[in-house]
Amino acid sequence: MTATKGYAAQAADQPLAPFTFERRALRPHDVQIEIMYCGVCHSDLHTARNEWGGTVYPCIPGHEIVGRITNVGSEVTKFKVGELTGVGCLVDSCRECSNCQQGLEQYCEVGNTWTYNSPDPVDGTNTYGGYSKQIVVDQDFVLLISDRLPLEGVAPLLCAGITTYSPLRHWKVGKGHKVAVLGLGGLGHMAVKFAASFGAEVTMLSTSPSKEEDARRLGASHFALTKDPAQVKALTNQFDFIVNTVSAPHDYNMYLKMLKTSGTMICVGVPPEPSKIIGGYLIGNRRSVGGSLIGGLPETQEMLDYCAEHNIVSDVEVIDMSYINEAYERMLKGDVRYRFVIDMASL
Ligand code: NAP
Ligand code: ZN
Ligand code: ZN
Repeated sequence: MTATKGYAAQAADQPLAPFTFERRALRPHDVQIEIMYCGVCHSDLHTARNEWGGTVYPCIPGHEIVGRITNVGSEVTKFKVGELTGVGCLVDSCRECSNCQQGLEQYCEVGNTWTYNSPDPVDGTNTYGGYSKQIVVDQDFVLLISDRLPLEGVAPLLCAGITTYSPLRHWKVGKGHKVAVLGLGGLGHMAVKFAASFGAEVTMLSTSPSKEEDARRLGASHFALTKDPAQVKALTNQFDFIVNTVSAPHDYNMYLKMLKTSGTMICVGVPPEPSKIIGGYLIGNRRSVGGSLIGGLPETQEMLDYCAEHNIVSDVEVIDMSYINEAYERMLKGDVRYRFVIDMASL
């Protein structure tokens, strides 16, 4: 066991604050990683504030982790001390069910282990995430990071990146498709980059007029302000796909009408409250609503390699650990360009 510094929420209505805890001693297949950068995902905020229910306190969020290996267990074969690595949302799964066998560990039928707020399958302790100095993870849930890209921009790929890459690949989005990305935050800006990189024509749907220039720089060909009813109406029956990244309750039906016949809304945002979908908007034009959860380990490595090859990183604002509560407030206002990333040297 190693005493480790981190930042934790002690209750849903409490700000995050310094917290010291014990990281487990290395098991034979574990690696220990000194965390250099950790991205700030809206899921961290949902969990720290118990917006989805089920948060166990103290809660140390953080699942966009990049760092260097400082120690390896006796049976580790995949990594060496000194290598640059990443850890995303998952730290374990059953590895035997049909989904795990296909590299879809995010859909493990037995139940996977999340990087934070999840019982460890061996000792039952609650997992603690990346807002901390170091983490101990089974080698099978660790990704290899290229040193060709700026590491602070790589960290958000471990969640925002894979969460948008995976559905775009699953639905084979590319050349000839008109794709709208709904919400320009952490996930949204990666969705724009990937969809444009895959050859699709991208429209940004945003509530923030100030983000238009950035949306175009990120790869969008068009921008529409969703607060303007005339602009919304003009987009009726326009898109093959809408990638919905919105974190707050909103009217899905307003956007479903923007899909062409046979179009699909891919939901990745997880607002805390359920929403009503009007069946008529689906039936009338054979539209579909789908969803997607992060990505499995093989696809996450594929995405990291794709980004290294195509020079794709997240646009980040690097912050000190102590800024985390202000960062959460700004994220709630949609005021993030486009991912906060904690420099762990500041802890
Ligand atoms: P984020 O950076 O806060 O971005 C969310 C964006 O949604 C905002 O920047 C804003 O963009 C837009 N938005 C916010 N409130 C809105 C409203 N009421 N109506 C319309 N648009 C609104 O959050 P994120 O980190 O990208 O995460 C987004 C969601 O995805 C969260 O719910 C998170 O938990 C979830 N998530 C899911 C997965 C998965 O595996 N499926 C993985 C990671 C995160 P504009 O200013 O452009 O309007
Ligand atoms: Zn996340
Ligand atoms: Zn499984």
